[in-house]
Amino acid sequence: MSGAPAPAGPTDADWAAAVAAVRGLHPDARVLLICHVNPDGDALGSMLGFALGLRRLGVRHLQATFPGPAGVPEPFRWLPGVELLVPQDDANPAPDLVICFDAASESRLGDLADRLGGAGTSLVLDHHASNTGFGDVNLVDPHAAATSVVALGLLDRLGVPLDADTATGLYVALTTDTGSFRFEATTPAVHEMAARLLATGIRPGDISRRVFDTRPFGAVRLFGEVLGRATLEPAAAAGHGLVWTYATRDDLVRHDQPAYVLEALIDSVRCTAEADVSCVVKQSGDAEWAVSLRSKGAVDVSRVAVGLGGGGHRFAAGFTGRGPLDDVIGSIRAALTPALLTAPPA
Ligand code: AMP
Ligand code: MN
Ligand code: MN
Repeated sequence: MSGAPAPAGPTDADWAAAVAAVRGLHPDARVLLICHVNPDGDALGSMLGFALGLRRLGVRHLQATFPGPAGVPEPFRWLPGVELLVPQDDANPAPDLVICFDAASESRLGDLADRLGGAGTSLVLDHHASNTGFGDVNLVDPHAAATSVVALGLLDRLGVPLDADTATGLYVALTTDTGSFRFEATTPAVHEMAARLLATGIRPGDISRRVFDTRPFGAVRLFGEVLGRATLEPAAAAGHGLVWTYATRDDLVRHDQPAYVLEALIDSVRCTAEADVSCVVKQSGDAEWAVSLRSKGAVDVSRVAVGLGGGGHRFAAGFTGRGPLDDVIGSIRAALTPALLTAPPA
């Protein structure tokens, strides 16, 4: 794909261009930060952590935003820097600099994609191998465990000292995308970065409890119902197995829950021993579904997701499904062909 980054990550020239884009801002410059739709801990944590770093550099006119409804999921409402968030319609249409976080393509920016054209310069910070290189300057490192690794790399090069507020966002991002330091992406460098962040005095126990281990009782009941109808298909994915479940908008209404509570569901589904691939299909419209896919390694789910119009990483990916639920599940089953397997059946 033209404009796609080298798999090796940003070059010295890319870093220099990003530093120049920030350093070249005049004191009254307007900077708009955007993260991907339906933002997760990496999207919000990287964006807000970086925003606070920019503020320390003296950037005064800062806005942060994401596409879609303006509400921040409860687990992230306490993050330092949330006061910088504005609804998408209030986002400056022509900022001097726009910076995008954790979005592999413009489509992940929804209605805010037009801000790229309206901006003086666009800078992309990301870690998806599928990133299309849609910025004027692209800092895309497919080897980075989270976008916050790239964000900290840029803050370091800008000479911004780490403080606890900046570190909090970057830490939330790092723990989100490494599954609390459990996934394959958890390298020595990840632990070294975590050590730097923790050295600012942030409290990992408090942060983990707020982000991962707190949900309303209604969500606990809802999870029970949705997990109770999970389906195991041992023969799917050429014998590696598929486990899937779904949640409808009616389920949310019955339990009086907001949609974001469903984001944690995949973690309770993917532990199924008998399946390499796990899937949660979350209704997002009348005939529209947000699909989360996870793999334990035999299947490259990013290829499955890209084939169905989405994206992601090898072990965690997603796409938007359209039509009846059965068709969406059928499309996943059909995509799990032997050609997409990365290893022979166990
Ligand atoms: P999720 O299942 O929502 O936690 O997403 C897992 C991974 O897939 C993340 O890296 C997302 O960026 C990516 N992803 C999820 N949904 C989509 C989508 N509709 N289009 C592109 N990438 C997606
Ligand atoms: Mn993300
Ligand atoms: Mn990420």
